[in-house]
Amino acid sequence: MPFNKLIQGYKAFHKEHFGPGKKLYQTLVRDGQNPEVLMIGCSDSRADPAIIMNTAPGDIFVVRNVSAIVPAYSRDSGHHGTCSAIEFAVRGLKVKQIVVMGHSLCGGVRALAERDLVGEHFEFLPNWVDIAKSALVSTQKATEKLPEEERARELEKAVVLVSYRNLHTFPWIEERLKSGDLTIHAWYFDMAKGKLLEYNPLTHAFDDLNGKGFKRAK
Ligand SMILES: [Zn+2]
Repeated sequence: MPFNKLIQGYKAFHKEHFGPGKKLYQTLVRDGQNPEVLMIGCSDSRADPAIIMNTAPGDIFVVRNVSAIVPAYSRDSGHHGTCSAIEFAVRGLKVKQIVVMGHSLCGGVRALAERDLVGEHFEFLPNWVDIAKSALVSTQKATEKLPEEERARELEKAVVLVSYRNLHTFPWIEERLKSGDLTIHAWYFDMAKGKLLEYNPLTHAFDDLNGKGFKRAK
């Protein structure tokens, strides 16, 4: 996309939201943001939650990083960008839902699978994706007979589940889960098919959100 298209996009956005009679931003400025959902997504340019879910400004609070990874709860002196966003959404905005969404053809997950090679070229990336290295271990044996492409897809789903489980290690998230004030969902965007799948903790399967008979596990 040529850089200039960004400016055109901004002009269209301005007309859409700040033209005569447009009130959405006025309301959001007056009342503040009150999103019900925290979306944790990958930085991949093809997997933007706001576009995939067709949301409006103010609808979702979003944090995106390489491979939508959530580190386990840890109170150290590191710079916890992702954890800060999660904390603000949960403790500050009191969101009711957290969705962590991975996707197919994820470069970050490939970097995890090939982390020895990646380490030669990248300074921060290997250490970041290493947070999800238990996904490598958990899928290795179960997928060893599958073709490489399918193994990659299974690893991507396993990485989402590492984040899903790590969300449960935050005490103030666990507290809200127990009181019924919060729900966590693990989603996977299959970009070749344009399908959004949700992890079912009872069956351990990822089911098509738009599929016939889709039922969310309680
Ligand atoms: Zn990705």
